[in-house]
Amino acid sequence: MKQKIGVISLGCAKNQVNSEQMLALIREAGYELRAELTDCDAVVVNTCGFVESAKSEAIAELLECIELKSQGTLKAVIAAGCLAERYKHELLTEMPELDAVVGTGSYGEIVSVIDKVLSGEQTELYGDINAPAEETSRILTSAHGSAYIKIAEGCDNRCAYCVIPSIRGKYRSRTLDSLAAEAETLANAGVKELIVVAQDITRYGLDLYGERKLPELLRRFSAIDGIEWIRLHYLYPDEVTDALIAEVRYNPKIVKYLDIPIQHINDGILKAMNRRGDGEFIRKLFTKLRAEIPGLVLRTSVIVGLPGEGNDEFEELCEFLREYKIERAGVFPYSPEEGTPAFDMPGAVHAELSEHRAALIEELQSRIIDGWNETRLGTTFSVLIEGYDEWGECCYGRSYADSPDVDGKVYISMPNDIENKKSGGLDVGTFVSVTATDILDGDLIGELTL
Ligand code: SF4
Repeated sequence: MKQKIGVISLGCAKNQVNSEQMLALIREAGYELRAELTDCDAVVVNTCGFVESAKSEAIAELLECIELKSQGTLKAVIAAGCLAERYKHELLTEMPELDAVVGTGSYGEIVSVIDKVLSGEQTELYGDINAPAEETSRILTSAHGSAYIKIAEGCDNRCAYCVIPSIRGKYRSRTLDSLAAEAETLANAGVKELIVVAQDITRYGLDLYGERKLPELLRRFSAIDGIEWIRLHYLYPDEVTDALIAEVRYNPKIVKYLDIPIQHINDGILKAMNRRGDGEFIRKLFTKLRAEIPGLVLRTSVIVGLPGEGNDEFEELCEFLREYKIERAGVFPYSPEEGTPAFDMPGAVHAELSEHRAALIEELQSRIIDGWNETRLGTTFSVLIEGYDEWGECCYGRSYADSPDVDGKVYISMPNDIENKKSGGLDVGTFVSVTATDILDGDLIGELTL
């Protein structure tokens, strides 16, 4: 009887791609895949481990699985991913009930690990985190019609608060051809929206071709039939070139949405973070992008509470967000991570104060989002349908301004004359035209515009 395996994917979209690759390898090896833990013989928890909150979530998930194992429901629990890579044998020492710990350099060996643990062996595997990125097939887990495509692995930047380079290795671009082939496969599987991710997509090609190749890669993606939206995440500010700006502006398939994490705006804090580009540089870049790309929606991420951040530095960040009205912004309280330069910096900010500053920015941002949503009322735009409510009465989806998992949604009320709404030609993974009529908790409500 075939053994049944589950994969739990935690953390970011890049980790999700690795989970999807492991799912494909596991099924190709003849195991059955299961979504319910209670149906599984073994589970792989693909962990995140770059900040305290992510570590706690991963440990809680592993403990839950270990509990199921102690009840005899599961035979084996495997810890994979960033937490496994970061702590290696220490994780096994802390959690001896685990059957395996698999680092980020060993996703490709997941099947041999499963074979071993299901035959009762405890094992650890920490492959080369600087080895070329995995080129394997995937089982998609995003909403139908949309998929992430990871164009490179690792990171060559050295932000002072970040452990990712030590977990994911140096920057390694995948080849143009392998990426175009993967995008073709995704399009043939019904994917209409490609979401381009890496730790830093703007650096794509430098290591492999000696020059930036992102614009060329985007042209290859947009030449593929079936791909209608290409969305860009994780751009590093000082690597946004004029060639890239022009490609985003004039390539009709690239949605006018750019995710550019700035982390802060104050010169002193940016320097302490070891970020390239100062506050003036970022202000000029955002002004230029707004001028050169009509209808642009900007997303960014900021960290508050880095050691040395006083009220003035924090206020400068708030003033910048008020003035530049970034439509989408994620805010993270600084998390002191051992092994990073920032960990030993003087001038620590109390964790409660960091949390408080993060809450102030969330409030500020929700007012900006509401203000921006107001400007969209009465406008008509395309929405990629993602699903229906349980009654099939209302469907929801995303506009070009909404990235999955991090931004809002558009809820679509359906004209009464559509008989069976679910099969009224409004399939998940298709585009419809919607006119915005109302706002609810930061999300838009709209009517189908036939
Ligand atoms: S760009 Fe900076 S924050 Fe992002 S993964 Fe690289 S080192 Fe970490």
